[in-house]
Order: sequence, then structure tokens, then C-alpha cells
Amino acid sequence: MNIRDLKAETGDTIKLNVTYEPENATLKEYEYTKIGDIFMKDNKGNIIAKKDGISKITIKHKTQKLIKSIVIKVDAKKKEEVKENNDVKEENTSNNEPEIKNIDGLTYVNGILIVNKTYSLPKDYDPGSLSVDAKNAFDEMQNAAKNDNIKLWIASGYRSYSLQTNLYNSYVLKDGKTKADTYSARPGHSEHQTGFAMDLNIIDSSFEGTPEAIWIEKNCYKYGFIIRYPKGKEEITGYKYEPWHVRYLGKELAEKVYNTGKTLEEYLNITSKYSE
Ligand SMILES: [Zn+2]
Repeated sequence: MNIRDLKAETGDTIKLNVTYEPENATLKEYEYTKIGDIFMKDNKGNIIAKKDGISKITIKHKTQKLIKSIVIKVDAKKKEEVKENNDVKEENTSNNEPEIKNIDGLTYVNGILIVNKTYSLPKDYDPGSLSVDAKNAFDEMQNAAKNDNIKLWIASGYRSYSLQTNLYNSYVLKDGKTKADTYSARPGHSEHQTGFAMDLNIIDSSFEGTPEAIWIEKNCYKYGFIIRYPKGKEEITGYKYEPWHVRYLGKELAEKVYNTGKTLEEYLNITSKYSE
């Protein structure tokens, strides 16, 4: 039993997108065991998003002991959003102190799930695959690139905590810890564990300057991605330039970040440094 991505607006009835393995499982029924503080149950047993925020819903399979949770962000309806953002408020977001929320070990900065050298994910955080939104966005980007005679593919998408542990340890053995830290994330600190990051085409500095890398740099924001570790920003992101590593943020936010020319750390006014 798995729950896929979900987006909600205030007032929406929450319809969880629950999938089952095997797909032909006979009993596909679950019950809510916990609903977070931004949701409420109506008299028909539906879950309604009553206000903006980030909160968790936990469900349990009716007969088996399977328990799954999903963190859902509820955004105000567009109308209210426009009202609120009519003045310069939005322009100043990046100068303001970020709103940092920790939900079950996951860090949300202004509502965005953040993983870098400062903020990590719990060992057991395991979405199991790329987020559906991120994968769909990649497919759209891949098609657009194809029209420009550019071939894109995912070289590395979702990576679990244990896979990252193996990768990082092998790099430390090869290059030593100090050097490994400039290009590989410590376990729990890899953005790949979120399911929102992917490495495209060639994971190697030879990718820089290729038509594919140039195309990605110029266009990826249109499909909801940003180049997460840009050139010349090593001190801020904590990583060497990676023209192949993109992070899915959704079209609206990716375009905003792209237009500022800032890294995600600068945009949100946060750091990326290991504590030791
Ligand atoms: Zn990567």
C-alpha cells in the first residue's frame, strides 16, 4: 500500500491516491488513523482541508497492519493568494527570515522540502521512487527537448538512504572525506532521497558545455526544475557545479527562483553546511 503525491487547496475534500501491491490485491480498503491539525472530518467521513499549512495524514489498511503516512501542503485558493500578494510582500520573501518547519524529521522552508548539508532526512524516509509530479514534469521536458533535437534521460533519480550510504562510503574510500564531501552527499543529506531530484544524462564534469547541458540550463525552469548546484556557488550550496543535477520545485516556484538567478539557499535565506 502506497500513497502518492497530492496537492490541496483550502476547502478541498482530500482524496488520497492510494495504490496497492500487488495491483490485483483483493482488499483495497483503509481507514484514517490520524489526521493532522489542518484537516477535519465532515459528517460523511470525508477529510477536508480547513486551513493552509503542512500536516500529515496517516492511514491503516483495514485488515493488515500496514500503516502509511503522507505529508500534505495546503495552499490558499488562488483568489485569496492574489489578495494577499497584491503588494510588495511577495517580493520581499527572500529577504525575510525563512519559516522553517520540522515535521517528523523533514524540514520545510517556506513550505518547500529542503535537503542540503544543513538539513537532512531521517534514515527511514523512503518515498520509494521519484515523485509522480517530478517524473511527469521530466517526461514533459524530455518531449520538449526532443523537439529541439536534444536527447535527455534520467541517469539517477530516487536514491534510498542505504544506497546513498554505499555511494558515499565508496567515494570516501577513493578520495577521502574532505574531497568526497564536495561532490557526494552524506547519507540522509542527499536530495535524491526526497524523490524530487534527478541527475540527467552524464554525471561527470565532461557534461558541462554540451548542447544537452546548455539546453537544460536554459529551459528546465519551464518544466518546474532548477539547476540545484550552479557554477560559482560552491560556497553557498556546498557542492561543486553539477550541470546534470536538477531539483523539481513546480513550474511557478522554479520560474521565480530562475528569474532571481539565485541558488535555492540564497532564495530561501538558508545555509548548507554540515554541523561537523
Ligand atoms: Zn544528483
